[in-house]
Amino acid sequence: NWKDHLVRQDEIDRYLDHGKDFIDDNAIEAEIGANQEVSPERVRAILKKAHEINLMSSKDAAALVNVTDPALRKEVYTAACEIKKHVYDNRLVTFAPLYCGSKCVNRCKYCGFRSDNNEMKRRVLTMDEIKKEAEVLAGKIGHKRLVMVYGEHPETDAQYIADSMKAVYSVKVPTKNGFGQIRRVNINAAPLPIEDLKILQEAGIGTYQVFQETYHKKTYREVHPEGTLKGNYLWRLYALHRSMDAGIDDVAVGVLFGLADWKFEVMGLVAHAADLEKRYGIGPHSVSVPRLEPAEGTDFSWVKHGVSDEDFKYLIAVLRVAIPYAGFIVTNREKPEMLDSVIDMITQRDADSRLGIGAYADAFPDEKTTSDGHQESERQQFVLNDMRSLDTVVQESIKRGHIISFCTAGYRCGRTGNKIMTLLKTGKEGHFCKMNAILTLQEYLDDFASPETKKMGDELISKELGEIEDRPADFTAAQVVELKKARKRIQNGERDLYF
Ligand code: SF4
Repeated sequence: NWKDHLVRQDEIDRYLDHGKDFIDDNAIEAEIGANQEVSPERVRAILKKAHEINLMSSKDAAALVNVTDPALRKEVYTAACEIKKHVYDNRLVTFAPLYCGSKCVNRCKYCGFRSDNNEMKRRVLTMDEIKKEAEVLAGKIGHKRLVMVYGEHPETDAQYIADSMKAVYSVKVPTKNGFGQIRRVNINAAPLPIEDLKILQEAGIGTYQVFQETYHKKTYREVHPEGTLKGNYLWRLYALHRSMDAGIDDVAVGVLFGLADWKFEVMGLVAHAADLEKRYGIGPHSVSVPRLEPAEGTDFSWVKHGVSDEDFKYLIAVLRVAIPYAGFIVTNREKPEMLDSVIDMITQRDADSRLGIGAYADAFPDEKTTSDGHQESERQQFVLNDMRSLDTVVQESIKRGHIISFCTAGYRCGRTGNKIMTLLKTGKEGHFCKMNAILTLQEYLDDFASPETKKMGDELISKELGEIEDRPADFTAAQVVELKKARKRIQNGERDLYF
C-alpha cells in the first residue's frame, strides 16, 4: 500500500511530451559527438554569451564538454569565477547535513544504506533525538541552515519528514551573546507524490532536493535494481516538476558523478534545467555535484566512469557557465584541496558535518563545544574527506576575502522561484544577500568564533561596509545607514535581523 501510494503513474504521464521524457539518450550522445571539434573562437563566443546569465543551449554545452586544451579550459574556469562573482558576489553560504534515518527499502549499488547491506547499523531518529541534534548544530557549532536527509522507508514518510522539520524549527538555544536556531531546512528525500509534497510545503520546507544520480538510462537501470522504488527512472525524473505543482518552487538538481560519463551527465543537468524553465519559467535554485565515495560494505570495483580531479574541476566550470543563475554546492565528500580549488566557482559548502544517525549529539556531549572529527563508517552513507571545523572554514574563507553567509532570509521574505530567478539574472539578489551575509556572519562571530576568527571577521565586515558605501548604484545611502544600525543591534545581542 505504501508503495502504491508513492508512485502514481498519472503523475508521470502528465509530464510526458507525446509519451517521451526530456532526456533523449541518443540525441545527447549525438550532440556530444557532433561537437567534438571546438575552435577557441567558438569557446570564447559561448563564454561571452554566458555572461548574459541565461541557460546555455545544449549545443553550446556539448561544445564545452569536449574542450581538452588546458589553456582553453582555463578560460572556461575564469569565466565561471567571473559569473559566480557577478551573480553571487563574494558570498559563500554554509550549511550542515542532518541524517534522520538509515533505513531504506532500495538497493542502490553505490550506497551504504542499501537494504541488503548487513554491515550498516540502522535506525531512525525520534523527534526528541532530532531536537538534540538541532541543539548541537544551532547551539554549539553555529549553523543556521540544514539539509535534512532521509532514506526511502515507510518510517520516514512525508508526515515524518514534516514533523522532523517542525522539531528542528522549534529549537532555540542560548548562545554566548544571543540565541541560536535553525532558520532554514532544505530536504533531500525520495521523490514524493504531489499530495505529500504539499505536506512538506506547509511544514516550511526550504529547497526540495532530488538528485537524479544519473541521467543515463542504461546506467540508471544497472545501479538501481528493477522492482525497487528507486528503479523507476521517470518517477524520479519528474519529482521536481511535481514539487513545482505542489507549490514548492525552490528545487535542486544533482548528479552522482562517477556512475556514467560525466559529459553525458552535464548535458542531462542542462536538459533538466531547460525543461523546468520551459514549463515553469524557473530553473533549479542549486546544482549539487557529488562524486562517488567509498561506503562501508560496498564494492566499488564496478565503477567505470570515475571522474579525475582535473575533469571534476572542469565539469563544475562548465556547469557554472551553462546554468549561470544557479547556486553550486560542493560538499565535504571532497578533500580540502579540492574544495579550496573550486571555491571561487561555488556558492555553498557544508562544514563540521557528521553523517552518522545521531552523530552530532554523540560528537558534542554535554558541555563539549569542539569535536575531533571522528567518523564511524558503519553508521554513515559514505565517508567524508574534509573534517575541518566550521571555525576553521570561516577563518580560511575570510583569508580569501569571502564572506561566509548563514543567511536564510530569501526564503522567509518570499524571494524564491520566479522572484529570485529575476533577481539572480539581473545581479540584484546579490545586494540583499550581501547585507544579510554581513549580519549573519556578525552573529556567528559574536556567538561561536575563536578569538582569532572573530578579529579577522570583524575587520572583514568593516572593510565590506566601507566598500558598500562606495557603491551608490547598488546600495542607497538609507540602506547603508540601516545596515550599520542592524550590525550594531546584533553586536548588542539582538538576533535574526535581515533585509
Ligand atoms: Fe536508499 Fe538513497 Fe541509499 Fe538508494 S541512495 S539505498 S534510495 S538511501
